Amino acid sequence: LAFEKYCRERVPRNTESDAPYSFLANTFVLISMTKSRIRIVTLLTNCILSLLYLEKESLLSAVWLSTNDIAPSFYGKNLGVGPAMYSKALKEVCGISSQSLKTLWNRHGDPGDVAYEAKVSVRTLFQPQPLTIKKVYSTLLKIAECIGNGAQNRKLELTKFLLISAKSEEVRYIGRSIMQNLRIGAVQNTMLTALSKAFVIYSDYERLNKLGTEALQAEFQKAEETVKQCFYQVPDYNILVQALLTTGLNNLTQRMSIRPCTPVKPMFGSITKDLQEMLQKLEGHNFCCEFKYDGQRAQVHKSKMGEVKIFSRHLEEISERYPDVIDSCQIAQKSNGDYIIEGELVAIDFNTGQIRDFQTLSTRERKKVNLNEITVHVCFFIFDMMYFEGESLLQCPLSSRRKKINEAFNMVPNQFQLVASLESKDEAVIQEFFNLAISSKCEGLMVKVLDGINSKLPSTYEPDKRGEGWIKVKQDYSEEFESLDLVPIGAWYGNGRKAGWFSPILLAVFNPENAVYEAVCKCMSGFSDQFYKELTDRYSLDSGHSSLAPVSSIYEVGKVQPQIFFTPKEVWEIKGAQITSSPVYKAGIGLADGDRGLSIRFPRFIKIRSDKGPEDASTNTMLAEMYTKQNQ
Ligand code: ATP
Repeated sequence: LAFEKYCRERVPRNTESDAPYSFLANTFVLISMTKSRIRIVTLLTNCILSLLYLEKESLLSAVWLSTNDIAPSFYGKNLGVGPAMYSKALKEVCGISSQSLKTLWNRHGDPGDVAYEAKVSVRTLFQPQPLTIKKVYSTLLKIAECIGNGAQNRKLELTKFLLISAKSEEVRYIGRSIMQNLRIGAVQNTMLTALSKAFVIYSDYERLNKLGTEALQAEFQKAEETVKQCFYQVPDYNILVQALLTTGLNNLTQRMSIRPCTPVKPMFGSITKDLQEMLQKLEGHNFCCEFKYDGQRAQVHKSKMGEVKIFSRHLEEISERYPDVIDSCQIAQKSNGDYIIEGELVAIDFNTGQIRDFQTLSTRERKKVNLNEITVHVCFFIFDMMYFEGESLLQCPLSSRRKKINEAFNMVPNQFQLVASLESKDEAVIQEFFNLAISSKCEGLMVKVLDGINSKLPSTYEPDKRGEGWIKVKQDYSEEFESLDLVPIGAWYGNGRKAGWFSPILLAVFNPENAVYEAVCKCMSGFSDQFYKELTDRYSLDSGHSSLAPVSSIYEVGKVQPQIFFTPKEVWEIKGAQITSSPVYKAGIGLADGDRGLSIRFPRFIKIRSDKGPEDASTNTMLAEMYTKQNQ
C-alpha cells in the first residue's frame, strides 16, 4: 500500500515511451538476492504496480519474461536456441576465442553469468538503443517463430541483437531468458499472487487503505483465490493479463471460465497407505473405486466448430501423436456438442483387449503419426468430464459428471471405454477389485467421492489441487516404502569405473511455498552405464544446464556441497528403504522433526517421470507426511 501511494504521487502516468528492460532486470537482481517468498511477492507486486502507472502495455511482456516462458505450453512455441548456437552468438558479439569461452563456462556454468563475464570487457564504438521490456519479449517470440530455410541463421542474428543491446545486469538476464533458465523464484503461484495483489491495490486503494491488517489480508486472499481459480481453468497469461487490464478483478470469474481447446490444470489424488486407511477416510461418504491405469493422462477437447484436440498432463498439445484417439472419440460421441473429457491413454492389445504395460506405451511414436503408421494401439479410458455443451461441470458432483459421460458417449471396445469401476463399501470386495487391477497391469485404485459439493471431502473437480475427494491406493504403498518423485539438482564427479560420469547425484524435493528445491539424498544406485553416459551429455557444464556455483534462491542443500549444480528440469522416481531424520539435509525442515531435516536411506533410481516437470515433484510436505506415517 505504501508503494502504491508512492506510485500515485511520484510515478509519471502512462508515459509515451516503453518501459525499459533495465527496470525488470533490476527487479530480477533484487529477487535473486532473497529466498523469502513474501519478499519475492512484494518485489513482483511493486514491479507490476509501477508498470500499471508507467506504461500498462508492457505488463504482459514483463509477466512472460518473469515466468521464464514465452507462451503457454499448448501454443507449442519453443525458442530452440541450443548451447552451441548460444556460444556462437557470444563469441561473435564479444569477440572472444573458443578457449576463453570454455574457461568462462567452466568457471561459471550459468549461461547468464557467462554472458555477463564475456561482455564486461567489450568496448563498443556506438551505443545501441536501450532495450525495452516489449522489445525483449517480442524478439524472443520472433526467435521462436523462425522456421524453415535459414531459421538457424535468423535465430542466431536475433540472439546476437539481444546480447549486443543488453547492458550490465541486463546481459545476465537476457542470457538466462534465451536459455530459458531465469533462476529466480518467480514460479507460477508467486506470479499469480503478485498479480492479484497488485490489481486489488491498484483498483481499490482508497478502500483498502482504511482497513485493518486482518481485513486487508482477507481481501488479498480473496483476490488471490479468484485469480488462481480463473488461471487454473484458463492457464494463459495472455488472457489473464488482458482481462485484468480491461476490467480488473470484477467479473474475472465470468471472463475466464473453462472453455474447449484451452486445457484445464488437472486435478490430482491424495495419497493413502492402504485400503483400510482409505476406508477410514471415506467413512460416511459414497464413493467409487476405479482402476488406476498406468498410461498417459490426456484431456480431449472438442469445440463447437467440431475441432478435436488432445492435451497432456503438462498441457502440451499432443493431437498429432494420437490421430487414432481423435477418431475413437468421434466414433464414441452420441451427439455433436462441445466437450472437455479426461482419461488415461493405455497401450492395449487390439485383438484380445488386454492392457499392455507402460513400457509398451513409451515405445509409441513421439512425433506426428499417420493412422496407418501406428505401431502401438491405445485405448482411451475415460474417467471424467469437465465441460459439456456450453456448460462447465466443475462444480457438479462426480455422480452427475459420470451420468453425463454416459449420456454423451457410447463405449467402443478397446478404443474408448469407461474406466473399470466398482461401487461397494465391502472391504473384501474392494480388495478383490484391487487385486484384479494389479493383475490387469494397473498401478492400483483411484477412489473418488461421488456426491457432495460442500462437504469436507467434495466430489467436485478441483483444477490443480491434490483433492481429498480423490484418493489413490497403489500397490507400492502396501510394500514398505512408497516411491518419491525427486529432482536431480547436482552431482559429484565419479571415480574409478565411474570416472567421466556424474556419481553420486544429489536429489531434492520441491518446496512450492518459496519455489526452492530442498536436497534430500545422494543417489548412486539403479543407474545403467548407458544412463550415466546420457546423463553426462545432458548436464555437462557447457550444456547450459549446469553450473559450479549454486544459485542461492533456488537450492537448499543443507550441509552437502555438490561439485556441480543442475538446472532443475527432470523428475526421477526413486525408491528407498526408509525416511530418516537428518542433521545434514534440510528437506522438510520444521514439518516433521523440529529443526532437523529428512533424508532417504538406500535410494534407488526406478525411472524418469517424463510426464512430470520439476514443480510436479514430491514436495517437502509430502515427504514429512510420509515420515510421520512411517513412524506411526
Ligand atoms: P502417480 O505418481 O501415482 O502417477 P501423479 O502425481 O502422477 O501420481 P496422481 O493424482 O497422484 O498423479 O495420480 C493420478 C494419475 O493417475 C493421473 O495423473 C492419471 O494419469 C492416472 N490415472 C490412471 N487411472 C486414473 C483414474 N481412474 N482416475 C484418475 N487418474 C487416473
